[in-house]
Amino acid sequence: MNNLNNAQKTFERAFKMHTDSNNLEGLCETRMHLAAVMQRLGDHETAARLLTEMGAIAMEHGLRKQLGEALHLLGELHLRRERPDLGTHHLSEAFSCFMGFGFKPSKSELVMDKELGGSKDVIHIYESHRKQVFEEEAEQSRLMMAVSAGQELMASYFNLLREAGTCSIAKMKTIEWKLSKAGWWVQRLHHDYLPCMCPIHNRTPLDVLRIQLETKAKSELAVDYSQGGSLLQRIDTVEDITKLRSSYHTSSRM
Ligand SMILES: [Zn+2]
Repeated sequence: MNNLNNAQKTFERAFKMHTDSNNLEGLCETRMHLAAVMQRLGDHETAARLLTEMGAIAMEHGLRKQLGEALHLLGELHLRRERPDLGTHHLSEAFSCFMGFGFKPSKSELVMDKELGGSKDVIHIYESHRKQVFEEEAEQSRLMMAVSAGQELMASYFNLLREAGTCSIAKMKTIEWKLSKAGWWVQRLHHDYLPCMCPIHNRTPLDVLRIQLETKAKSELAVDYSQGGSLLQRIDTVEDITKLRSSYHTSSRM
């Protein structure tokens, strides 16, 4: 603990020096180190604030690597605070940032080009600099993104199991996942036709019949694209295909 407090003081001193000399990369770096210390001290709020500030400085001055680092660390922080949904989002942005997807060459890079633009060598350096991909960092972000997305899914799976105690639809989704690996996170039409008395769904078998009739009235075609399997079974003869085609033409003329 004492060591951490000392580290905090040292970084705060460094922070002041970088502020005085307006050293942007140094400012980003000290914020990053300070955030790590605050995280160790259990102050996640301050850590998140410092990393957000770091990201803002980096974005404002076109420091792509530092921006990526800030996004990556924020992503890891969210993951640690059991918010994998936010984690995945930040880590995927960090990945794009390191790869340079959708990023224009930064202001500082452009200035460098203008100032030194005369010589061919410099243009060469500039060109290679502009297309720089931070591969190792990008790979790290991609890896953590996969971990985070996995955790996101696990959390929602535990929720599903909990819901399955009272909700028939959650129960059905669990069974479908166990039997045929059908993802419970995918919305499927036939779940709307299951009676369920849980507070969220609250529909009796009679309600379901009414819903089905309403849906049928709304669309004569009522082709359920989400049920690819049953669609394939239905059009396994040429006759059925022509039937489908002609009904499509009739309805599009209307
Ligand atoms: Zn339910």
